[in-house]
Amino acid sequence: MPESYLVIGGSGFLGSHIVNGLLNRGESSVAVFDIVQRVFDDRIVFFSGDICNEKQLVDAIQKCQASVIIHTASPAPEAPKEVHQRVNVEGTRTVIAAAVSCAVPKLVYTSSAGVVFNRNNIVDADERMPFPQSEESYNTTKQMAEDIVIAANGKDGLATCALRPAGIFGPRDRLMMPSAAQAVTRGQWTIQIGKNDNIFDWTYVDNVVLAHLLACDKLSLATPPLANDELGNALPQVTL
Ligand code: NAD
Repeated sequence: MPESYLVIGGSGFLGSHIVNGLLNRGESSVAVFDIVQRVFDDRIVFFSGDICNEKQLVDAIQKCQASVIIHTASPAPEAPKEVHQRVNVEGTRTVIAAAVSCAVPKLVYTSSAGVVFNRNNIVDADERMPFPQSEESYNTTKQMAEDIVIAANGKDGLATCALRPAGIFGPRDRLMMPSAAQAVTRGQWTIQIGKNDNIFDWTYVDNVVLAHLLACDKLSLATPPLANDELGNALPQVTL
């Protein structure tokens, strides 16, 4: 039975690439739910809506008969904290409520490596690394959203997972590379803060897309995720 995909935030940088990835592998039912429309393609059904509005979500899910929801929507890191709280936390809760009420079996959530950002280099960390206290509302609300998504896994017939990309680069990036380029054109490269030895992960957008598509394909209630205390046995031992 072919899946029917609803990409929430599908007008965005990553979301639009996920849409392309789905179309390129021959998926015939791909829909986008977003507050703005930036992708225009006859093969996609577009739903204009806000993830904080359950009625709009339910309407879209029912109309496209979604069997997989990929939730990539988020305000930018520099948005006000009230917006982070509303969209990342309340919006994600609403996405789950809508998915459950429409009996959608799978939800893949785009979290962020920011959930474990602790201002230090992070080496060899895995899912067991606890969330640090963060003063940045983007990171805090992505932590809360991830908790909400993981807590929903296996309940009411819904299988969920959260992926944590670090910096994503590629065509249509409106955040990372444009701000780096702007710093260069403003001459801000002449100032160095620190020793220039911090490390950071970057992933090409197509690889992040692939991670999402594999998660969609593999996610199943039949193979429940390991509990945290089981992870220690399943994963190689690392020093955090
Ligand atoms: P983006 O801003 O390009 O896309 C986000 C999309 O979500 C936009 O189209 C926006 O209109 C939509 N959206 C925002 N609020 C909404 C709402 N209330 N209802 C419906 N749609 C809404 O961002 P992106 O860079 O593509 O990021 C996608 C996801 O990946 C986000 O969850 C982000 O936290 C995560 N992420 C991004 C990066 C990165 O480097 N870009 C790194 C790690 C994680």
